[in-house]
Amino acid sequence: MGPAYLYAKVSFSVEKKKIADHDVDEELDRFERAVQRSERDLKKIIALTRDKVGSESAVIFEAQMLMLRDDALYDVVVDTIREQQVAAEYAVSVVMSKHRQMMEASDSEYLRERANDLLDVQERLIRHLRRGHILSDIPANTVVIAENLTAADIILFSRKGILACATDYGGATSHVSIMARSLGVPAVVGMHDITDHVETGQMVIVDGAKGQLTVAPTHAEKEAYKVKRKRYEQLLVEDRALIPLASETLDGHVVQLEANIELREELPLLAEYGADGIGLFRTEMILLMESRLLVSEEEQYELYRDVVATAAPGHTTFRMLDLGGDKMLPMGHREQNPFLGWRGIRILLDKPDILVPQLRAILRAAEHGPTRLLLPMVTGRDEIRAFRERLRTVRQELEAEGVRCRSDIPLGIMIEVPAAALQAESLAREVDFFSIGTNDLTQYVLAVDRGNDLVAGLFDELHPAVLRLIRYTAQAARKAGIPVGLCGELATNLQAVPVLVGLGVTSLSASPVYLPAMKRIIRSMSMGEGQEVAERALRSEDVRDTHAFLQAWLTEHGCGLDY
Ligand code: PEP
Ligand code: MG
Repeated sequence: MGPAYLYAKVSFSVEKKKIADHDVDEELDRFERAVQRSERDLKKIIALTRDKVGSESAVIFEAQMLMLRDDALYDVVVDTIREQQVAAEYAVSVVMSKHRQMMEASDSEYLRERANDLLDVQERLIRHLRRGHILSDIPANTVVIAENLTAADIILFSRKGILACATDYGGATSHVSIMARSLGVPAVVGMHDITDHVETGQMVIVDGAKGQLTVAPTHAEKEAYKVKRKRYEQLLVEDRALIPLASETLDGHVVQLEANIELREELPLLAEYGADGIGLFRTEMILLMESRLLVSEEEQYELYRDVVATAAPGHTTFRMLDLGGDKMLPMGHREQNPFLGWRGIRILLDKPDILVPQLRAILRAAEHGPTRLLLPMVTGRDEIRAFRERLRTVRQELEAEGVRCRSDIPLGIMIEVPAAALQAESLAREVDFFSIGTNDLTQYVLAVDRGNDLVAGLFDELHPAVLRLIRYTAQAARKAGIPVGLCGELATNLQAVPVLVGLGVTSLSASPVYLPAMKRIIRSMSMGEGQEVAERALRSEDVRDTHAFLQAWLTEHGCGLDY
């Protein structure tokens, strides 16, 4: 609950902003930094394009790179800032727009085409200029309202002390939502046009549990929410009493509760919420935050070593970099269908310069505690075998260098592509464990983009089609005698917990704050009850019925968190 702060809409109209005499040098520095950041982006894009598409296509970006420092642009922007004493955004916008208009009016087709590239360059520069600027403007204790946010935005905003956020775009399992959940930032996403209805300074209430936003609440609404907040806080306190207790059903079936982690600052939460280990360490964020493609082996090693040591004696499951999808780095590599494109294991196998340092860092860190390796976006056996081959080579190299590294690290795969789930029986013979990723599995099974607000209503992980694949995967794992965890956001949906236990999932991994509430449910049920609700959910012809009977079930078991 608090005043709204409307975070810059993605529009490139730039107002004329005058700066003081003594700020000119700083403004010139900002411009130079934005140019350097744009050069860094473009370098990555050029390398990627050469690699994946061919040198001819990279020419476009090479031309963009040259534009950044072209005298007719760079020098004129500098002069404009200096002489007119205006903000860099404005100078870039005026100078480049003028130049573009000239190109567009030209008789030469070549020049007309280049005009589009100049627009790209202009937008990239303004994006970099705005980013630094706007971020430093975000006031603490406000509710950020934005068209769209990235996972990196959420981290930066949460460090600034925002109260909550709400966006036009996004889905509940998009990466930005996952990040908000991990950092305990209340969020509502996919509100279509909320930025049109809220103004900076207006009082708003974000109800992350219900997915509702109240604008300009009445006195009665505010009071009602204060009561709700109290009740919610009370429930969190009650749940904490469960932390030292075992996570097992009434008839003694143990379901491990593990943590999903992606930032160093989340590590203290492991002990705080009683996690049995790390079921999913997403490694993308370290790269995103560093905003460069490759973090050195040494830097990765230092982080991974600390993670492993903190989680010990519990294990740490490192997922190899899952680039692509909605976790592409902030670089302009564009794909029509990123979720069906160059993603996860596909990138890893294509790019040894990404895979090798990460693998070396993990193998070295494994000396400090129990470690597992997890592969993202696997669709079949060959990918696993190809990875094992790389693993063998990397291990041999380390040994040849005299570096100690373990040879018994379990290798698992994400089951998040329908093809993998449907081949679970044969894949179970190739690996040491499965981890079901329902965020992607659901989007691929139901053909619903997990980050698209227009179809967010169709995204339902309790859909019987998804549950069937979970059951099949769990059965295959049991037959092969390997553990099967689940690390998608479904694990945090309390309605799903009895179903997943009943389907035979052996561990659940989620943001640590959710673990106590999940444990409450596990401790209140028997395996037989789980199997019963699972059977009913699998047979359901309307997923709305499933939600209704599961909610009733939770209430009967004293776990219907009604806040
Ligand atoms: C998943 O897909 O369910 C998952 C856990 O991975 P991510 O959300 O990182 O894609
Ligand atoms: Mg996934």
